[in-house]
Amino acid sequence: MNGSGRARFALRGRILHAVADPAEAGAAAIEDIADGLLLVENGRIVRLGPAAEIRTRLDAGVHLVDLSSRLLLPGLIDAHVHYPQTGVVAAYGRDLLDWLERHTFPAEAAFGDPERAREGARFFLDELLRNGTTAAAVYCTVHPASVDALCETALGRGMRIVTGKVMMDRGAPPELRDTAEDGYRDSVALIARWHGRGRIAYAVTPRFAVTSSDAQLEAAGRLLREHPGVFLQTHLAEQRREIATVRRLFPWARNYTEVYDRFGLLGPRSLFGHCIHLGETELERLSATASVAVLCPTSNSFLGSGLVDPVALRDPTRPVRLALATDIGGGTSYSMFQTMAELHKIVRLSGRDLAPAELFYMATLGNARALGLEEEIGSLRPGRVADLIVLDPGRRPALARRLAAGAAADTAELLLALAVLGDEQIVEATLIAGRPLYVRPESGVSVLQR
Ligand SMILES: [Zn+2]
Repeated sequence: MNGSGRARFALRGRILHAVADPAEAGAAAIEDIADGLLLVENGRIVRLGPAAEIRTRLDAGVHLVDLSSRLLLPGLIDAHVHYPQTGVVAAYGRDLLDWLERHTFPAEAAFGDPERAREGARFFLDELLRNGTTAAAVYCTVHPASVDALCETALGRGMRIVTGKVMMDRGAPPELRDTAEDGYRDSVALIARWHGRGRIAYAVTPRFAVTSSDAQLEAAGRLLREHPGVFLQTHLAEQRREIATVRRLFPWARNYTEVYDRFGLLGPRSLFGHCIHLGETELERLSATASVAVLCPTSNSFLGSGLVDPVALRDPTRPVRLALATDIGGGTSYSMFQTMAELHKIVRLSGRDLAPAELFYMATLGNARALGLEEEIGSLRPGRVADLIVLDPGRRPALARRLAAGAAADTAELLLALAVLGDEQIVEATLIAGRPLYVRPESGVSVLQR
């Protein structure tokens, strides 16, 4: 399946990508080229535009793949996902903490075994590619071997991954606990081994305040100060019982966000999963520090966490940067299309409005910006790495019917139809740096591999 691909080729199809934030640029934020052509050279996009314009200027030797009935999109980005949790999706728990103790901690304990971790990493990355996701911010387990397994596998595929070892020195079974000192030392070694290698970036990853002591959060802050350029990822204000626990564990803090703030964990490279139940003071701090709130709508519905409100989060008086994610295994779908659809529903349940273009932006360019990677991924602009997907809406009869009934003629309607009626079934091929790493076996686009 991992064909080497060609050094130089062109794809012709309907090209759809976000070039700006629709909240700022309006309809001009989405470029929709009905008959477009995209030229890839040595793994990067070098030209893009209407086929009629570009085709005549192509060298005779360029291999042209005609995908006229298909859509070409940038690869989707998942900003918060747990790779050791692929086996606990849809597991029953009364709430977040019960679900963690009953299913998730036992599943994560198995990842101390390098062979089990490698098998888990392969399944996980296969699943991302099958769903058209080409980049992700990923939680490992407390075991350094779980980071090595994911990074080795991602490195072999050339995938853009932000990841790190979970730090957890209390509130978890003994086999899943590190200490403030071990967690620090292991993280330093992993940063040296993986940060900046291939397309891998390290994220300091204290699971959440419930499972880290003051000393461990202090060590996390030290890691950030000592290694500029690494990310921070953790969870914030997902459920009420979790917040009550944090209040008990950190009596000195006025609110949950202040726990992380005290140890220097807020900042433009800090990704906070969920951010559902936050007060105004907390939102102001997230905004002032340019921290990112990562919305995980299918997880929030499944675990009953609450209705996250992206409209309130980005209130212009103190806008919080946003990202979008599956949060597998609390989340229920690896598909960023289904994730967009769930956010649409949650926004509706809150009586709010978010344009379809905004959903699509979040899963592509918006997430790239949240990760500081917009020069590399998130759009199909020339110069970007050719991480892209080929979609065949015809694989979903209900979607094909909606498009034929008018949605195909209107960009916003098309984007909402893709989100609500699309999933991994419509992904025909996923390319990483121009290499087709996933192609549906019966697909006509297998010509890419020859
Ligand atoms: Zn999570």
